Amino acid sequence: MHNAFTPQTSGDLNYLKSLNRSTILSTVRRSPGLSRADIALRTGLTKATVGSVVQALVERGWLREGELHARGGGRPGRALYLDGERHYMLGAEVGVKGLRLVACNLLGVVLASIHQEEPPTDPATTAKRLAALLVQLRQAPDIAERRCLGLGVAVPGPVSPRAPILSLAPNLGWVDIDFLALLREQPDLPDGVWLLDNEANAAAFGEFYFFEGVPPESIAYISAGSGIGCGVVSGEHFPLVPRGHQGLVGEIGHTVIQPGGALCHCGNHGCAETLVSGWALREALHVDIDASLSNAVLARAEDGEVQAVMKRAGEALGLLMLNLHHTLNPSMLILGGSLMKLGESLTGPALAYFATHQNDLLRQSQTVPVKVIGDSTYVAARGAAAQVMARAAIEI
Ligand SMILES: [Zn+2]
Repeated sequence: MHNAFTPQTSGDLNYLKSLNRSTILSTVRRSPGLSRADIALRTGLTKATVGSVVQALVERGWLREGELHARGGGRPGRALYLDGERHYMLGAEVGVKGLRLVACNLLGVVLASIHQEEPPTDPATTAKRLAALLVQLRQAPDIAERRCLGLGVAVPGPVSPRAPILSLAPNLGWVDIDFLALLREQPDLPDGVWLLDNEANAAAFGEFYFFEGVPPESIAYISAGSGIGCGVVSGEHFPLVPRGHQGLVGEIGHTVIQPGGALCHCGNHGCAETLVSGWALREALHVDIDASLSNAVLARAEDGEVQAVMKRAGEALGLLMLNLHHTLNPSMLILGGSLMKLGESLTGPALAYFATHQNDLLRQSQTVPVKVIGDSTYVAARGAAAQVMARAAIEI
């Protein structure tokens, strides 16, 4: 990336153009229906700049013109919207229990999807399997005529902030995997932007980028599934996901909340994941890896031992939410991941713990909104697609 202090060169002009283009696209994404004059007013760009950039974006199929806005005294202007018809992005999640793929348009609408519930084996075989599914997905009738902007892949572990390398996926046993390189060896995949990110980061980005309604200033997305991760996003036109020195930002599943507690997959004792994660709940409730955890909990809902395990897990999740609130203070917390299928038995104690302790500690009149996503099957894959769109908006 260029920095703001380099001297004026043609490179800087291109950079400035891409900033303007990206800013205008994000303004329309966040407030659909604005006119060119509205955009100039909101962004501080001149009307001439807005006019020429919008023209190019309409021609390239990123924006479309809608109805005429009547203006008091001034010339009427056309409403502008993201064009949902001409492009698509591919997003995929390599999950601990299976592969999920989506193709979505610039509005975040999922046009086609595939969910294959079969755990990944080794990285090379998984890349081959994913590539075959991507080829299959691209043949869906609604996307064959569109231009593909690229592919984003979400993985269940930290990704190095310096290179797109999966550092560690403890629940898959993968270490230092260049997954995109393995994918590039596969035939018939599209060009464009290719990205790799941690699944919670991708999910957080997507929920923020395609937020319906007035977007919050920042969000923290907790992904509670086989493991527990978290992604944090903020920023109006250029949403930022902090990653940390080693890509470990958001690895809340391995924060120790019970010193000297049970042994975790990471080698430490008393990590949050030993109390609230798919693997810990299966161990505590003796549910086989192939059986449905939510069905098992539902079937034994009246069992006192099950109730105690779920209460302890829910409160551990509430404690993680509280710690996030006090460390990062996001405008909104979002709970997602496969554990949300456990419903009230998990979210009940989590939300109660969070509400009680949040008020007690800060004496705040306004509590932080918490959104629970019951079915987050495609949230990370769609988020990876959103990351592709954000990058492509800068690079087009
Ligand atoms: Zn751990």
